[in-house]
Amino acid sequence: MTILQLCYTPRVAKQQSLFELPPDPLPWELAADADRTIAGVVLARPMETVYHYLVPEQLREMIRPGQRVRVPLGAGDTPTLGYCVEVGQTAPTSRRLKSVLEILDREPIITSQMLELTRWIGQRYLASWGQVLETVIPAGVKKQSGTREIVCYTAAMGLAEKLPGMKLSKKQLAVVNVLLSHSVPQSVDTLSELADCGTGPIQWLRERKLIVPVRQRVSTWDDDDGSPVVMQEDLALNEDQQKALTQILGLVRKKEHQTVLLHGITGSGKTEVYIQTIREIVSYGQQAIVLVPEISLTPQTIRRFRSRFDSVAVLHSHLTDSERHAQWQRIATGNVQVVVGARSAIFAPTPHLGVIIIDEEHETFKQSSTPRYHAREVARERARMAGVPLILGSATPTLESLLRTRRKEDLLISMPRRVEGRPLPPVSIVDVRHDPHVQRGEAIGRALQNSVTQCVQDGGQAILFLNLRGYSPVLWCQKCGVGVRCPDCDLTLTWHADRQKVVCHSCDYEAVKPTACPNCQTPGLKYLGTGTQRLEQELAAKFKGMRLLRMDSDSMKAPGSHDEALERFRRHEVDILLGTQMIAKGLDFPNVTLVGVVAADTLLHQPDLRASERTFQLIAQVAGRTGRGEKGGRVIVQTTCPDEPVIQRAAKHDYLGFAAGELRHRQELKAPPFTHLARIILRGPDEALVNAEARRITTLYRDAAKATPQQVRILGPAPAPLTRLRKMWRFHFQLSAESLDPIIALWRDVQAKLDIHPDVEMTIDVDPIDMR
Ligand code: ADP
Ligand code: ZN
Repeated sequence: MTILQLCYTPRVAKQQSLFELPPDPLPWELAADADRTIAGVVLARPMETVYHYLVPEQLREMIRPGQRVRVPLGAGDTPTLGYCVEVGQTAPTSRRLKSVLEILDREPIITSQMLELTRWIGQRYLASWGQVLETVIPAGVKKQSGTREIVCYTAAMGLAEKLPGMKLSKKQLAVVNVLLSHSVPQSVDTLSELADCGTGPIQWLRERKLIVPVRQRVSTWDDDDGSPVVMQEDLALNEDQQKALTQILGLVRKKEHQTVLLHGITGSGKTEVYIQTIREIVSYGQQAIVLVPEISLTPQTIRRFRSRFDSVAVLHSHLTDSERHAQWQRIATGNVQVVVGARSAIFAPTPHLGVIIIDEEHETFKQSSTPRYHAREVARERARMAGVPLILGSATPTLESLLRTRRKEDLLISMPRRVEGRPLPPVSIVDVRHDPHVQRGEAIGRALQNSVTQCVQDGGQAILFLNLRGYSPVLWCQKCGVGVRCPDCDLTLTWHADRQKVVCHSCDYEAVKPTACPNCQTPGLKYLGTGTQRLEQELAAKFKGMRLLRMDSDSMKAPGSHDEALERFRRHEVDILLGTQMIAKGLDFPNVTLVGVVAADTLLHQPDLRASERTFQLIAQVAGRTGRGEKGGRVIVQTTCPDEPVIQRAAKHDYLGFAAGELRHRQELKAPPFTHLARIILRGPDEALVNAEARRITTLYRDAAKATPQQVRILGPAPAPLTRLRKMWRFHFQLSAESLDPIIALWRDVQAKLDIHPDVEMTIDVDPIDMR
């Protein structure tokens, strides 16, 4: 058992309040100001103010920034949870202050640097500091999950001196001697074991106050962090990798912050560069944080780091509260060398941060609820504060990151070749508009079918990618000409044959399959479109005798199933792997000689600024799964828009060409990354009301924008593309400007005066990614 920390929660009588607002202090009270202690406290509510409270005498020694406190709030002095963010002697008000009621943590649960970072997040993403703290500190850390409180004993003050004159039994004396010979308090269990006695003598000594009880927190978790791995040597780097590493280490040694964009094609060996960078900073006693997309936080990725470093902490979303707390504690001791995790791992409490790495930086590292921070930007700020490099790695960097290198704000390092000189696989675009199979309603066209057959006959393995789970995304009524919709959302329901349910992919709605159209009662609904479940069925019929494996979030629910499935694929117990995004990234299997993109257009037609960018990224990533071994590989992309420039560019692996064209287009549109956006969403149960409020509020912003010197464009209002979600109607408008400052200023200015209807909720998303 590890003793974590003492727990001490003094209780203070609630302060009497006679007036709604405390009166101004009297002159003699002001004179006493010099020796008062005042805590600045933020609340976990959408209120931006830092409130000031007096710290009562008995709490002064204990209070520190980063602790949670309970403070009286409002006219009724309701005890309210808050975070102490500063301790000082002055308050920016002359009002008489209320007092802190209670301190909840013996030690700060967040460091001062992380306090600064959370404040920055609140300002940048327009959330209150307290709300940021509330989300950033894991629940398990707040509850101290996995620990429990036990009573321990320590000897009373001066007991050793009094001892000679006292009459104690042998057992009582044994207890006292145990305590006198230990500098830390002992639990009842250990005491009775060491003194070889029952609880009687302990109780007797306690009643006479010769020994004193202390409450302590002990952990109930064990420190073991997973299965043993075979340690591996670092690889000898090739020339490109060595060049990249040398540049990065130059920055590390200068101890200066710099963001590096490591643009390396799939299979160029970026991970090895990360690992050897970390090797260096670990030798200085520092720690690394490596962020990866949740979807690639697979056992493969984790094993790669575990096999190179003695001490790796993994923070993934399946951790229980107590596991997360345990990892957090481990990291805070400084004994962890590498923290690997999804988005929120950026808040890992590493005491001596040496580098931050974001792998696959083009993936979504944005939080989808308040505070809607982008982990890449938080990482940039954290790295800046710590004076360490931030490395962003990708084969298909975001246009945001690329543009920063063009402007010389960040440093671009390229690795344009695959390791061991392997070529990127050739990509064939197949126009399926006139394909006889596709016209029959099948998903696999003739060319792809022949290629799969050939690939498997030659002893290779194939990966087929389809970005849609379920059996069929639309149940179609021929009479009405529409699909069956979710009653709560603006989306068609997807048929899931495995569960025999229609499912809404936006909310949790599920129902048995309707036998007739809900609108016109016509029976005989048709399946329109193909998801992975239907594809699996088609493949089984087409490729008899071949071994199939489907990987999507429905088939991979059981813990460990993901790892097990990929192991089967690696052992060649599977010929065709089909699946969603889950199989698009990171997989490194040399025997994969064919990749098929079943429907390249699914992402292209979304009403979204980044539709092309995402399509390019996805095709490039999936294509990168083949040609990794000696046998080489090829890619077939099925599409109905073969002439789309993005598809053409992706087929040529021409990221830079694609990026140049897309950047030009965005610049013409005055769109990100050339401008910043803030998207404001209004939602509520009453469509007309939300619409009216959206109009009214947009007008307020528009008027205010006219009065400001810096240009902020207001776009909208309009119904959001997903107009109804979970029974709520949604309208949105956008603020757009060349930099964020005028947007933030305008938002604060107008929002402070806003009086929104109580049935309408307003949220703001700064630098939004999700435009639905
Ligand atoms: P990326 O992340 O850029 O797609 P990886 O880091 O996954 O590329 O590397 C691809 C493969 O090449 C991996 O199997 C890796 O072990 C191997 N590899 C990387 N660097 C070297 C090297 N210097 N020599 C030999 N193999 C390497
Ligand atoms: Zn729904």
